[in-house]
Amino acid sequence: MHPLSSIRAATFLAVACLLPSGASAQRPAAAAATVRSAPLSNIRYEVQFDSSTAARQTIRVSVSFEVGGPGHVLLSFPAWTPGAYEISNFARYVTGFAAAANGKPLDWDKLDYDTWRIDPAGAKAITVNFDYRADTLDNAMAWSRPDFVFFNGTNILPYAEGLGFTFPATVTVKTQPGWLIATGMQAGGAPGSYREATYHDLVDKPFFVGHFDLDSNQVDGKWNRLATYPAGAMTGPARSLLWDQISKTVPKMAAVFQETPWQTYTTLLIFTPEVGGGSALEHSNSHIGIYNPGFVGNPLLASITDHEIFHAWNVKRLRPSDLWPYDYGRAQPTTWLWVSEGITDYYADLALVRGGVVDSAQFLGLTGEKMAQISTQPPAALEDASLSTWIGPVDGSQYQYYPKGSLAGFMLDVLIRDGSDNRRSLDDVLRELYRSAYKKGRGFTGQDWWQTVSRAAGGRSFTDFNTRYIDGREPFPWSEILPLAGLRMATDTIREPRVGLATGQDSSGAIVVQAVQPGGVAQEAGVRTGDQLLSLGDVEIMDPNFGEAFRSRFGKNENDSLAIRVRRGADTLTLHGKVRLVSRVESRLETDPAATAKAARVRNGIFTGAVTR
Ligand SMILES: [Zn+2]
Repeated sequence: MHPLSSIRAATFLAVACLLPSGASAQRPAAAAATVRSAPLSNIRYEVQFDSSTAARQTIRVSVSFEVGGPGHVLLSFPAWTPGAYEISNFARYVTGFAAAANGKPLDWDKLDYDTWRIDPAGAKAITVNFDYRADTLDNAMAWSRPDFVFFNGTNILPYAEGLGFTFPATVTVKTQPGWLIATGMQAGGAPGSYREATYHDLVDKPFFVGHFDLDSNQVDGKWNRLATYPAGAMTGPARSLLWDQISKTVPKMAAVFQETPWQTYTTLLIFTPEVGGGSALEHSNSHIGIYNPGFVGNPLLASITDHEIFHAWNVKRLRPSDLWPYDYGRAQPTTWLWVSEGITDYYADLALVRGGVVDSAQFLGLTGEKMAQISTQPPAALEDASLSTWIGPVDGSQYQYYPKGSLAGFMLDVLIRDGSDNRRSLDDVLRELYRSAYKKGRGFTGQDWWQTVSRAAGGRSFTDFNTRYIDGREPFPWSEILPLAGLRMATDTIREPRVGLATGQDSSGAIVVQAVQPGGVAQEAGVRTGDQLLSLGDVEIMDPNFGEAFRSRFGKNENDSLAIRVRRGADTLTLHGKVRLVSRVESRLETDPAATAKAARVRNGIFTGAVTR
């Protein structure tokens, strides 16, 4: 996953990033372990979405199967979607549940809150019908508009309780003429029909159905598809730019593993002002991203897209043993999200620089931003942050495994390249584990990970590293690490405009004033707590480059007039202030011209992916 990545705002804007979060109750594991459905076979899911179901914001689902033994049929809905590490209990969106055989209704009740118990009454062929409410704008959920729906298999495809997840099934999507279907699912014989060999695949291939833009290109010898909703949201140069970025970065990611593991990869993107930022969720041959329209044509979109595509290797295939195999009925906490998410984020940045989408200075800028971000957060162990994510902790540790895990990956890469005189790298670790764990049909253990890291680094021990920086809360030792890669921290003094506001994002994505600094520019102009901020000067607050644009426009002259546009109740007001500049000292990661030849080899290896063979 990539959590809500807020539009980059100036430093005075503290933009809260809120993920819509579901109820966090875990269901009792014991109940799930001891019950078992009557055996089912020939399972066929039929999904109907057209303008009439869209008008009700629902998807019509029917499940047909044959019963192969005595007892009740127990149909359960997943509690979560892999990649979105929170309990969502999709059963709560089910309405109008009914079961029938030979045209007659069957008795049913609930065994627990997400399991329906059906009495077959001797029938061999049963059909279950229900409606699923598609009104939640979240990558892991289902959301519809009058001409469109996206949904995940975890939302709408129930499974037989206690019988495992290795059964095959078909999915048939019925929609109206002229509407498109995009999914990573394997096409079956008839139009709109799909088939997968296991439930793991059935729930890992989300769908777009409706009216949207869709095109395809060959990337690295395989087909890639790009589906974007609404139609017209990303066209022309912006669409070409994303295609160009994908075509440059995917080969660099594939080079790490020396394998492109999909036949076709599908990128499914939604652009809506209903979200203020952007977030995305990975699958084995696709991902869904939901973005503010300001992301169209913005470099951040390429970065998040790379993050999700890299997940096709790292977490969807190379995965910690705690998550192998996925269990949809319960939470699966792991200490390894710093690898699965953090190192994925490191490789998203590496793909950008290795593919030539950003230059090495911009890559160091991205890395420096992560260092700055971590320096402002409370110290948290990567393992603890990873474990805690399921409960949405409020102690500041949630999602630290993204930037801090990315930096841990960067440190490991430096130490491996240094220990091997750039003959080996973190790429080798990922590739070896991909072969020794994923290709052997299992997840990697802690022993697998650290032994592979140690071997790549020429045999050095990482026990102390693990104790201090992964399982512990010690600050990362940049003064020791950076010289090994020919890098150093520089400090700049920056004069920048300061408005004197604290803001947050509300549930609709709007930027709302939470506090006004006494005596500041905003207070003097008449800004009040609760105002919705629309623009500062001619810079729209929703501009993904807001911070940069605002600083470059108003960072030069004191007392320039500054129009502050806000919405207050039903009114839109333009308030008038004057620019005030303050000095701020900022650290910046840069190349060290005095680097040793070995450190320069390490640095170049990171930027290009090269090792010295
Ligand atoms: Zn992710």
